[in-house]
Amino acid sequence: MTAKLHRSTSNAIELIALTKRYSQDKPAVDSINLRIASGSYCCLLGPSGCGKSTTLRMIAGHESVSAGDILLEDRNITDLPAAARGTAMMFQSFALFPHLNALDNVAFSLKMKGADKPTRHRQAAALLERVAMGHLAQRKPAELSGGQQQRVALARALITEPKVLLLDEPLSALDPFLRIQMRAELRRWQKELGLTFIHVTHSQEEAMALADTMVVMNQGVIEQMGSPHDIYNRPINEFVARFMGGHNVLNTAEGMISVRTDHMQLAVDEPTLSDGLGHKRAVITDIEYQGTYVLVGLQEPGQLQNPSSTAEISVMVPEASFDAQPFALGQRVQLRWRPEAAHSLVH
Ligand code: ADP
Ligand code: MG
Repeated sequence: MTAKLHRSTSNAIELIALTKRYSQDKPAVDSINLRIASGSYCCLLGPSGCGKSTTLRMIAGHESVSAGDILLEDRNITDLPAAARGTAMMFQSFALFPHLNALDNVAFSLKMKGADKPTRHRQAAALLERVAMGHLAQRKPAELSGGQQQRVALARALITEPKVLLLDEPLSALDPFLRIQMRAELRRWQKELGLTFIHVTHSQEEAMALADTMVVMNQGVIEQMGSPHDIYNRPINEFVARFMGGHNVLNTAEGMISVRTDHMQLAVDEPTLSDGLGHKRAVITDIEYQGTYVLVGLQEPGQLQNPSSTAEISVMVPEASFDAQPFALGQRVQLRWRPEAAHSLVH
């Protein structure tokens, strides 16, 4: 008798060389490998067209896979129908049925599965209680606030008892104020429910606010994955540094580096060569007051001849420092940075 090997796992989802080709051109998703820890909040982040939604739809079973595998808790789900995978999807702006009340919205997929009315109403009511919406079960979506609608959408996705919740730009159609409120709620529910969330967004701010793990994608491949803190402080290459924002990418004698805009200083004096700080000459082309700081845009002198070029370098000067030593448009200055603030980029 052979003992059954029991492989316990901490991965909710594992993608192995996952590929999607829509045509003979470059694949939309190009052999990506990714492990997403159970109970974590993962954000797939990248510019429009980089393959985020395609990746999510392949995990959901809404898109066929050209090559590679998808494992959910070590079970290969690559060829399973969407309903049999243990995943559920939450769509943009929650996509609730306007003519159904909250209870029937939540019960909807049980109705599709043929559950009788008492059963589906009992399960839907229990889930609405769980997201603190039990008292509003009879309301239609138009009679609910944005936050309440989001909770109904969450309950509706959870009724199939998924292991992984997939969210494709769920906040992108909301106004900025509501978007910030709703993302805090999403984060709170994910922690409270202990589920794995995979959330697609093109907003680096949203991903940084939400994610335990951020996966930065570009043209069908993963450029970098890690915690928001690690990626923001150590972008691996020029693409990630520029996409994340808040960094200056500079060519220096030591190679290509990035330095955070809040880790650079402006000086009017020539650098003392022995002080060990990085330095570069630049000319001020923009000055924007932003409240707690002043954003100063600069160009290297050699680029000034190009009339179409905009500020290439930004420095965040705290308001008090700027007030103590104001700078003017057109002024020639030295950019300074401490060696430990400079971070080498891979080509
Ligand atoms: P994202 O969600 O990151 O904006 P998508 O995954 O939607 O990107 O798209 C990735 C690439 O695949 C894009 O070039 C897009 O035009 C292409 N694409 C997406 N869906 C289809 C489809 N159904 N048929 C053909 N090409 C598609
Ligand atoms: Mg998309």
